[in-house]
Amino acid sequence: MNKITNHMPTAELQALDAAHHMHPFTDANGLAAKGARVMVRGKGVWLTDSEGHRIIDGMAGLWCVNIGYGRKELAEVAARQMEELSYYNTFFQTTHVPAIALAAKIAELAPGDLNNVFFAGSGSEANDTNIRLVRRYWDVKGQSEKRIIISRKNGYHGSTMGGGSLGGMSPIHAHGGKISGIVHIDQPDWWSEGGTMTPEEFGLERAQQLEKMILSLGVDQVAAFIGEPIQGAGGVIVPPSTYWPEIQRIVDKYGILLIADEVITGFGRTGNWFGSQTFGLRPDIMTIAKGLSSGYQPIGGSIVSDRVASVIAEGGEFFHGYTYSGHPVAAAVALENLRILEEEGIVDHVRNVAHPYLAERWHALTDHPMVGEAKLVGLMGSIALTPDKGTRAKFPEGSNVGYRTRERCFANNLIMRAVGDRMIISPPLVITPEEIDILIDRAKLSLDESLAGLRADGLI
Ligand SMILES: *Cc1c(COP(=O)(O)O)cnc(C)c1O
Repeated sequence: MNKITNHMPTAELQALDAAHHMHPFTDANGLAAKGARVMVRGKGVWLTDSEGHRIIDGMAGLWCVNIGYGRKELAEVAARQMEELSYYNTFFQTTHVPAIALAAKIAELAPGDLNNVFFAGSGSEANDTNIRLVRRYWDVKGQSEKRIIISRKNGYHGSTMGGGSLGGMSPIHAHGGKISGIVHIDQPDWWSEGGTMTPEEFGLERAQQLEKMILSLGVDQVAAFIGEPIQGAGGVIVPPSTYWPEIQRIVDKYGILLIADEVITGFGRTGNWFGSQTFGLRPDIMTIAKGLSSGYQPIGGSIVSDRVASVIAEGGEFFHGYTYSGHPVAAAVALENLRILEEEGIVDHVRNVAHPYLAERWHALTDHPMVGEAKLVGLMGSIALTPDKGTRAKFPEGSNVGYRTRERCFANNLIMRAVGDRMIISPPLVITPEEIDILIDRAKLSLDESLAGLRADGLI
């Protein structure tokens, strides 16, 4: 076979891709008929595809490229680390400098007594670790019957058996089933499910479902509650202001562990280092991945409080770990990513420059006839598409308004993702006001074209 390179015609690359590459979360036959878009290069917030299009990446890859694409420093650190110590494990009483340095740095950045890091290769793996950690915690404390983890419908916690089961997405559960001991309460999505309640009333009502669930299961059965500070894959659902304080009150009252899944909201996304700081949460464990390395290397982990880590330690050996826990190259690259985030003041840039600028333009999208609410926390935002803003109505089944709009964005060289009838963004944190203008102009054009298409097809 000839060497496959960037210079091959796109159609040939697409044919080989369709023949041999099984894509995640993809309808394989649908994609084969159409051909995948081939990305070849990235710099800052910009991607270039095999046809030479310059695309603005409104999603930071998959919510992960916080410092932007193509930073040479990370490549250099990776090359140096591969030459020095390409791999060694952290099992069996061994360690190495990148794992030590990264764990110490994460402990420094994380709030409160979150001072201990268990490394994984991804967010899903880290959440699998969390299932085992919280159950082990109660075992060691002599309360082995506390095994159930309460999560939310339409939450996303990964796609391994553990992560997929923690998540509350029924299409995922339908493919392969769900592990036992995980239950789901309703999500705090006021736009879709709030009815005639005010957002504040609704936030309280949804949080109080946690208390009802704890009482109906029995406190002696419940190990932990897990939630994303802002649901990401579920559609960038920003909870009403009353929600998280009430959840914190309930987990405190019943003494159950709180896991904040910060895979998206960590490392500057919400304008603070962690989403828990933005929402005033005090988690016992945080799940991290994505922005930890800005996607330059696959790495994730669990940041564990002193309280939990000391109990795990009391229990003797914890029979858990991954070959690549704390991988030296991934750890060295993540550390360099954190250095850049910190020294270049990127979290402050989100809070003081990019968020205020984007917020003004993002909220103005509600002037569009099809845009109901517009939400933005830090650089994580969503708009709800609706045929009737007053009643927060849904488009008719099969109108695929989100999908149609996403296709128009693609055609206009903007990556914006659709989740049902919501459009979402999560751009690299280094985005400038000028680039925000381009993103918004392309989004507006795409919304106009999508609306024109719906009208032409008699759907609105
Ligand atoms: C992406 C994501 C995960 C899973 O991370 P992977 O690295 O894809 O395994 C878990 N939780 C949240 C909130 C995520 O967004």
